[in-house]
Amino acid sequence: MKVCKFGGSSLADAGQLTKVLDIVLSDPQRRIVVVSAPGKRNPGDTKVTDLLIALAKAALEGRNTASALDAVVVRYAEIAKALDLGDDLVRSIKEDLQMRLAQVPSSAGGDAGVFMDLLKAAGEDNNAKLVTVAFQKRGKKARYASPKDTGMVLQGAPGNATLDPESYKRLARAFADFEGVVVYPGFFGYRADGTVATFPRGGSDITGSILAAAVRADVYENFTDVDSVYPVDPRLIPEVKTGIDTMTYREMRELSYAGFGVFNDEAIFPAVQARIPINVRNTNHPSEPGTMIVQTRRVMPGTVTGIAAANGFTNIIIDKYLMNRKVGFTRHLLTILEEEGVSYEHTPSGIDSISVIIRCDKLDPALEKKTVSRIKRELCPDSVIVSHDYAILMVVGEGMCYSAGMLARATSALAAAGINISMVNQGASEVSFMIGIRSADHDRAVRALYNEFFGE
Ligand code: ASP
Repeated sequence: MKVCKFGGSSLADAGQLTKVLDIVLSDPQRRIVVVSAPGKRNPGDTKVTDLLIALAKAALEGRNTASALDAVVVRYAEIAKALDLGDDLVRSIKEDLQMRLAQVPSSAGGDAGVFMDLLKAAGEDNNAKLVTVAFQKRGKKARYASPKDTGMVLQGAPGNATLDPESYKRLARAFADFEGVVVYPGFFGYRADGTVATFPRGGSDITGSILAAAVRADVYENFTDVDSVYPVDPRLIPEVKTGIDTMTYREMRELSYAGFGVFNDEAIFPAVQARIPINVRNTNHPSEPGTMIVQTRRVMPGTVTGIAAANGFTNIIIDKYLMNRKVGFTRHLLTILEEEGVSYEHTPSGIDSISVIIRCDKLDPALEKKTVSRIKRELCPDSVIVSHDYAILMVVGEGMCYSAGMLARATSALAAAGINISMVNQGASEVSFMIGIRSADHDRAVRALYNEFFGE
């Protein structure tokens, strides 16, 4: 059995939805269909999820919601009309949204996040119902499955929920035996107290991966709008034409860490744990085989699979003479971070220095000030320098293991481009190395590394 997930661009309008129906109907193995909310129809368009966020904000601020509500309903109405799915469907979508809006908390506060999740989830939930009717209209036995009835229990903060692992058993039971196609809304589940909770943005990928793991699918097909995963961001290197045919989970994990947007890094996890192959495919070119992401693959020694780069890191560089002889220095530093609730990414160190690299969005100016002043006061370092505008480059490939000279090639290419390196980090697995540079050098660095490892 195959679990297929279709993203927002694959369901943006009736033309796209027709492609989705054709893809699913062309293969009887495609039994569980996870859907996003309708996405952008063109670059200037707004995703239904963003329209719902605007609607929720209007309700929370006590403004008139009529036009924001219409903006959402019209997206479904257009699709329903083009595919002749009937007025009742559109009416019930509108009623569903009104019922959600009626639950707006009377005063701002703790419930606002839960209310926001309730509205955001409406995008996927109503789309799953619409897609079910579209399958039925094509004569296919299809039913909508609700995350509540199937036991998709989540926990954690609104907009950032995670799965309660007990859900796997419930989901496996819910899908033990069924006929036809099941359409399942992505992106949300329910807390134990019955309230709706959503995964982070892009979270329908996570739902698909969880279901694929729960039912032990043969493959998890993730349909999007690119033919495959490319070895480098095509927006930076437009001439990259050849995609990656097969890559390992850990290669994907390393690349998505540094911004490979094709596949949400959190979404890989359930499929990895259950060893379900992931196939990234294009709804617009269904005959393309896409990229397979698997546990192991044959590798060519000395080759790189992909290059990724991400801006948005802060580096706190702490210097103290004879740091290497100070027992407990790093522990104390990490305790400060822990007590301040700051999660860090890397801590490259020298004899007398240690850097803490943190994602900027995890460290607002007030928290940064407090953390740095504690470091100064409690660790008495010789200096503390905070550098923003820090970028991380990742060079990734199973083929790099045990191959001499890979890092030398990368650093020489960067040197030839006049790019200064502020940090180098390679894990023992040798599947990747990471290079810290200034954000201003981000694009040129990617170009230099691409030319070195993939150029003519
Ligand atoms: N619709 C949600 C979003 O725009 C979730 C998803 O598409 O995966 O983030």
